[in-house]
Amino acid sequence: MGNLNGKIVFITGASAGIGAATAFAFAREGARLLLAARRRDRLESLAAELKQAGAADVHTVALDVRNRAAVASTIEALPSDWKAIDVLVNNAGLSRGLEKLYVGNIEDWEEMIDTNVKGLLYVTRAVVPGMVERNSGHVINLGSTAGDQTYPNGAVYCATKAAERAINDGLRQDLLGTAVRVTTVDPGMVETDFSLVRFHGDSERAAKVYQDLTPLTPEDVAETIVWTAARPAHVNIARVLMTSIDQA
Ligand code: NDP
Repeated sequence: MGNLNGKIVFITGASAGIGAATAFAFAREGARLLLAARRRDRLESLAAELKQAGAADVHTVALDVRNRAAVASTIEALPSDWKAIDVLVNNAGLSRGLEKLYVGNIEDWEEMIDTNVKGLLYVTRAVVPGMVERNSGHVINLGSTAGDQTYPNGAVYCATKAAERAINDGLRQDLLGTAVRVTTVDPGMVETDFSLVRFHGDSERAAKVYQDLTPLTPEDVAETIVWTAARPAHVNIARVLMTSIDQA
Protein backbone atom coordinates (compact mmCIF):
# COMPACT_ATOMS: atom_id res chain seq x y z
CA MET A 1 0.00 0.00 0.00
CA GLY A 2 1.76 3.21 -1.15
CA ASN A 3 5.32 3.78 -0.11
CA LEU A 4 5.54 4.00 3.66
CA ASN A 5 8.70 1.95 3.81
CA GLY A 6 11.23 3.64 6.11
CA LYS A 7 8.91 6.57 6.91
CA ILE A 8 8.95 7.84 10.51
CA VAL A 9 5.46 7.64 12.01
CA PHE A 10 4.84 9.30 15.38
CA ILE A 11 1.75 7.97 17.17
CA THR A 12 0.47 9.54 20.41
CA GLY A 13 -1.62 7.35 22.69
CA ALA A 14 0.13 4.31 21.24
CA SER A 15 -0.07 2.17 24.38
CA ALA A 16 -3.60 0.84 23.75
CA GLY A 17 -6.59 0.63 21.44
CA ILE A 18 -6.52 2.45 18.12
CA GLY A 19 -2.99 3.78 18.67
CA ALA A 20 -1.49 0.32 19.27
CA ALA A 21 -3.37 -1.16 16.29
CA THR A 22 -2.13 1.73 14.15
CA ALA A 23 1.45 0.93 15.16
CA PHE A 24 1.03 -2.64 13.89
CA ALA A 25 -0.64 -1.48 10.68
CA PHE A 26 2.21 0.95 9.87
CA ALA A 27 4.79 -1.68 10.87
CA ARG A 28 3.36 -4.00 8.21
CA GLU A 29 4.15 -1.26 5.66
CA GLY A 30 7.80 -1.07 6.76
CA ALA A 31 7.46 2.24 8.61
CA ARG A 32 9.68 3.23 11.55
CA LEU A 33 7.60 3.79 14.67
CA LEU A 34 7.94 6.53 17.25
CA LEU A 35 5.46 5.67 19.98
CA ALA A 36 4.27 7.89 22.82
CA ALA A 37 1.93 7.46 25.81
CA ARG A 38 2.11 7.84 29.58
CA ARG A 39 2.35 4.12 30.47
CA ARG A 40 5.97 3.28 29.80
CA ASP A 41 5.54 -0.44 30.66
CA ARG A 42 2.82 -0.86 28.04
CA LEU A 43 4.90 0.97 25.46
CA GLU A 44 7.85 -1.29 26.15
CA SER A 45 5.84 -4.50 25.83
CA LEU A 46 4.23 -3.15 22.65
CA ALA A 47 7.66 -2.35 21.21
CA ALA A 48 8.79 -5.93 21.96
CA GLU A 49 5.68 -7.36 20.26
CA LEU A 50 6.17 -5.10 17.24
CA LYS A 51 9.80 -6.17 16.86
CA GLN A 52 8.73 -9.82 17.21
CA ALA A 53 6.21 -9.18 14.41
CA GLY A 54 9.00 -7.82 12.19
CA ALA A 55 8.72 -4.04 12.69
CA ALA A 56 11.61 -2.25 11.02
CA ASP A 57 12.48 0.03 13.93
CA VAL A 58 10.71 1.21 17.10
CA HIS A 59 11.50 4.06 19.50
CA THR A 60 9.32 4.80 22.53
CA VAL A 61 8.90 7.96 24.58
CA ALA A 62 6.91 8.26 27.80
CA LEU A 63 4.90 11.43 27.35
CA ASP A 64 1.84 13.10 28.79
CA VAL A 65 0.51 15.27 25.97
CA ARG A 66 -1.08 17.63 28.53
CA ASN A 67 2.38 18.73 29.63
CA ARG A 68 3.31 21.50 27.21
CA ALA A 69 6.95 21.75 28.31
CA ALA A 70 7.42 17.97 28.16
CA VAL A 71 5.93 17.80 24.66
CA ALA A 72 8.34 20.47 23.38
CA SER A 73 11.40 19.02 25.10
CA THR A 74 10.61 15.44 24.05
CA ILE A 75 10.41 16.40 20.39
CA GLU A 76 13.52 18.57 20.73
CA ALA A 77 15.47 15.76 22.40
CA LEU A 78 14.67 13.04 19.85
CA PRO A 79 17.75 11.22 18.55
CA SER A 80 18.84 12.80 15.27
CA ASP A 81 17.73 9.81 13.19
CA TRP A 82 14.19 10.09 14.59
CA LYS A 83 13.70 13.84 14.18
CA ALA A 84 12.38 13.97 10.61
CA ILE A 85 8.83 12.84 11.40
CA ASP A 86 6.92 12.00 8.21
CA VAL A 87 3.52 11.14 9.68
CA LEU A 88 2.03 12.39 12.95
CA VAL A 89 -1.00 10.50 14.27
CA ASN A 90 -2.63 12.68 16.94
CA ASN A 91 -4.52 9.85 18.60
CA ALA A 92 -4.09 10.37 22.38
CA GLY A 93 -7.52 11.12 23.78
CA LEU A 94 -10.20 10.10 26.19
CA SER A 95 -13.68 10.63 27.48
CA ARG A 96 -14.43 10.95 31.18
CA GLY A 97 -17.91 10.58 32.63
CA LEU A 98 -21.29 10.64 30.95
CA GLU A 99 -23.35 13.15 32.86
CA LYS A 100 -25.65 16.07 32.39
CA LEU A 101 -23.60 19.21 31.89
CA TYR A 102 -25.09 21.04 34.83
CA VAL A 103 -23.97 18.36 37.29
CA GLY A 104 -20.81 17.24 35.47
CA ASN A 105 -17.47 16.75 37.19
CA ILE A 106 -15.29 19.74 36.34
CA GLU A 107 -12.07 17.76 36.75
CA ASP A 108 -13.33 15.33 34.11
CA TRP A 109 -14.00 18.26 31.76
CA GLU A 110 -10.52 19.61 32.29
CA GLU A 111 -8.92 16.23 31.62
CA MET A 112 -10.80 15.91 28.31
CA ILE A 113 -10.06 19.45 27.17
CA ASP A 114 -6.42 19.28 28.27
CA THR A 115 -5.84 15.98 26.46
CA ASN A 116 -8.08 16.05 23.39
CA VAL A 117 -7.69 19.73 22.53
CA LYS A 118 -4.67 21.26 24.21
CA GLY A 119 -2.53 18.11 23.99
CA LEU A 120 -3.27 17.78 20.30
CA LEU A 121 -2.33 21.42 19.80
CA TYR A 122 0.94 21.11 21.75
CA VAL A 123 2.07 18.07 19.75
CA THR A 124 1.06 19.66 16.46
CA ARG A 125 2.92 22.86 17.32
CA ALA A 126 6.05 20.87 18.20
CA VAL A 127 6.08 18.61 15.14
CA VAL A 128 4.65 20.54 12.18
CA PRO A 129 7.39 23.21 11.84
CA GLY A 130 9.84 20.43 10.92
CA MET A 131 7.42 19.15 8.29
CA VAL A 132 7.03 22.63 6.81
CA GLU A 133 10.79 23.07 6.76
CA ARG A 134 11.21 19.78 4.87
CA ASN A 135 8.09 20.56 2.79
CA SER A 136 6.80 17.06 3.41
CA GLY A 137 4.61 15.39 5.97
CA HIS A 138 1.15 14.27 7.01
CA VAL A 139 -0.84 15.04 10.16
CA ILE A 140 -3.64 12.58 10.90
CA ASN A 141 -5.97 13.59 13.72
CA LEU A 142 -8.42 11.31 15.50
CA GLY A 143 -11.80 12.97 15.53
CA SER A 144 -15.10 11.23 16.14
CA THR A 145 -18.71 11.09 15.04
CA ALA A 146 -19.14 12.89 18.38
CA GLY A 147 -17.76 15.99 16.63
CA ASP A 148 -20.89 16.01 14.44
CA GLN A 149 -23.53 14.53 16.67
CA THR A 150 -23.72 15.88 20.19
CA TYR A 151 -25.39 13.26 22.37
CA PRO A 152 -27.11 13.63 25.75
CA ASN A 153 -24.72 13.66 28.73
CA GLY A 154 -21.70 13.97 26.44
CA ALA A 155 -21.52 17.71 25.77
CA VAL A 156 -17.91 18.23 26.82
CA TYR A 157 -16.42 15.21 25.04
CA CYS A 158 -18.43 16.14 21.92
CA ALA A 159 -17.16 19.72 22.23
CA THR A 160 -13.55 18.48 22.27
CA LYS A 161 -14.14 16.52 19.08
CA ALA A 162 -15.90 19.49 17.44
CA ALA A 163 -12.80 21.50 18.38
CA GLU A 164 -10.60 18.80 16.83
CA ARG A 165 -12.54 19.24 13.57
CA ALA A 166 -11.99 23.01 13.59
CA ILE A 167 -8.30 22.59 14.39
CA ASN A 168 -7.93 19.99 11.65
CA ASP A 169 -9.61 22.21 9.06
CA GLY A 170 -7.73 25.30 10.20
CA LEU A 171 -4.38 23.53 10.04
CA ARG A 172 -5.18 22.24 6.56
CA GLN A 173 -5.93 25.79 5.39
CA ASP A 174 -2.80 27.13 7.07
CA LEU A 175 -0.67 24.53 5.28
CA LEU A 176 -2.01 25.26 1.80
CA GLY A 177 0.96 25.97 -0.44
CA THR A 178 3.12 23.40 1.37
CA ALA A 179 3.29 19.68 0.70
CA VAL A 180 2.11 18.84 4.23
CA ARG A 181 -1.22 16.98 4.30
CA VAL A 182 -3.88 17.03 7.03
CA THR A 183 -6.55 14.40 7.61
CA THR A 184 -9.17 13.77 10.24
CA VAL A 185 -10.30 10.18 10.72
CA ASP A 186 -13.64 10.22 12.53
CA PRO A 187 -14.84 6.85 13.79
CA GLY A 188 -18.10 5.90 15.45
CA MET A 189 -18.01 3.36 18.25
CA VAL A 190 -14.78 1.35 18.45
CA GLU A 191 -14.27 -1.42 21.01
CA THR A 192 -11.22 -0.39 23.07
CA ASP A 193 -10.53 0.65 26.67
CA PHE A 194 -12.25 3.94 25.79
CA SER A 195 -15.46 3.06 27.68
CA LEU A 196 -13.55 1.64 30.64
CA VAL A 197 -11.65 4.92 30.92
CA ARG A 198 -14.87 6.91 30.42
CA PHE A 199 -16.52 5.11 33.34
CA HIS A 200 -13.43 5.32 35.57
CA GLY A 201 -12.78 1.55 35.43
CA ASP A 202 -16.37 0.30 35.86
CA SER A 203 -16.11 -2.74 33.55
CA GLU A 204 -19.77 -3.73 33.85
CA ARG A 205 -20.93 -0.32 32.67
CA ALA A 206 -18.28 -0.28 29.93
CA ALA A 207 -19.29 -3.71 28.55
CA LYS A 208 -22.92 -2.58 28.18
CA VAL A 209 -21.88 0.05 25.65
CA TYR A 210 -21.06 -2.60 23.04
CA GLN A 211 -23.99 -4.89 23.88
CA ASP A 212 -26.44 -4.09 21.11
CA LEU A 213 -24.18 -3.48 18.14
CA THR A 214 -21.10 -4.77 16.36
CA PRO A 215 -18.59 -2.00 17.05
CA LEU A 216 -15.65 -1.14 14.83
CA THR A 217 -12.40 -2.79 15.82
CA PRO A 218 -9.20 -0.79 16.45
CA GLU A 219 -7.79 -2.57 13.38
CA ASP A 220 -10.63 -1.21 11.19
CA VAL A 221 -9.61 2.31 12.13
CA ALA A 222 -5.87 1.59 11.94
CA GLU A 223 -6.15 0.27 8.38
CA THR A 224 -8.05 3.39 7.37
CA ILE A 225 -5.44 5.65 8.92
CA VAL A 226 -2.70 3.84 7.02
CA TRP A 227 -4.74 4.03 3.81
CA THR A 228 -4.92 7.84 4.06
CA ALA A 229 -1.14 8.00 4.60
CA ALA A 230 -0.47 5.72 1.66
CA ARG A 231 -2.23 7.90 -0.95
CA PRO A 232 0.05 9.55 -3.51
CA ALA A 233 1.71 12.72 -2.18
CA HIS A 234 -0.61 15.08 -4.11
CA VAL A 235 -3.77 13.48 -2.67
CA ASN A 236 -5.09 14.85 0.61
CA ILE A 237 -7.91 12.87 2.18
CA ALA A 238 -9.36 15.66 4.29
CA ARG A 239 -11.81 13.55 6.25
CA VAL A 240 -12.90 9.96 6.72
CA LEU A 241 -16.15 9.33 8.59
CA MET A 242 -16.56 5.66 9.47
CA THR A 243 -19.09 3.82 11.62
CA SER A 244 -20.19 0.31 12.42
CA ILE A 245 -22.96 -0.78 10.09
CA ASP A 246 -25.26 -0.80 13.14
CA GLN A 247 -24.64 2.77 14.25
CA ALA A 248 -26.96 5.65 13.34
P1 NDP B 1 -7.96 3.83 24.53
O1 NDP B 1 -8.40 4.20 25.91
O2 NDP B 1 -7.90 2.39 24.18
O3 NDP B 1 -6.53 4.48 24.23
C1 NDP B 1 -6.27 5.83 24.51
C2 NDP B 1 -4.80 6.09 24.37
O4 NDP B 1 -4.55 7.48 24.65
C3 NDP B 1 -3.98 5.27 25.33
O5 NDP B 1 -2.84 4.77 24.65
C4 NDP B 1 -3.55 6.28 26.40
O6 NDP B 1 -2.27 5.92 26.89
C5 NDP B 1 -3.48 7.56 25.57
N1 NDP B 1 -3.58 8.76 26.38
C6 NDP B 1 -4.61 9.19 27.14
N2 NDP B 1 -4.30 10.32 27.77
C7 NDP B 1 -3.04 10.63 27.40
C8 NDP B 1 -2.14 11.68 27.73
N3 NDP B 1 -2.50 12.65 28.58
N4 NDP B 1 -0.91 11.69 27.17
C9 NDP B 1 -0.54 10.71 26.32
N5 NDP B 1 -1.34 9.69 25.96
C10 NDP B 1 -2.57 9.66 26.51
O7 NDP B 1 -8.94 4.61 23.56
P2 NDP B 1 -9.10 4.58 21.96
O8 NDP B 1 -8.00 3.84 21.32
O9 NDP B 1 -10.49 4.20 21.68
O10 NDP B 1 -8.98 6.14 21.64
C11 NDP B 1 -8.01 6.70 20.78
C12 NDP B 1 -8.58 7.95 20.14
O11 NDP B 1 -9.71 7.61 19.34
C13 NDP B 1 -9.05 9.03 21.12
O12 NDP B 1 -8.68 10.30 20.62
C14 NDP B 1 -10.57 8.87 21.09
O13 NDP B 1 -11.23 10.06 21.43
C15 NDP B 1 -10.78 8.49 19.64
N6 NDP B 1 -12.07 7.81 19.36
C16 NDP B 1 -12.39 6.65 20.00
C17 NDP B 1 -13.61 6.04 19.74
C18 NDP B 1 -14.05 4.79 20.44
O14 NDP B 1 -15.26 4.47 20.38
N7 NDP B 1 -13.17 4.03 21.07
C19 NDP B 1 -14.55 6.62 18.76
C20 NDP B 1 -14.07 7.81 18.11
C21 NDP B 1 -12.87 8.38 18.41
P3 NDP B 1 -1.74 6.12 28.38
O15 NDP B 1 -2.90 5.92 29.29
O16 NDP B 1 -0.67 5.08 28.49
O17 NDP B 1 -1.20 7.51 28.40
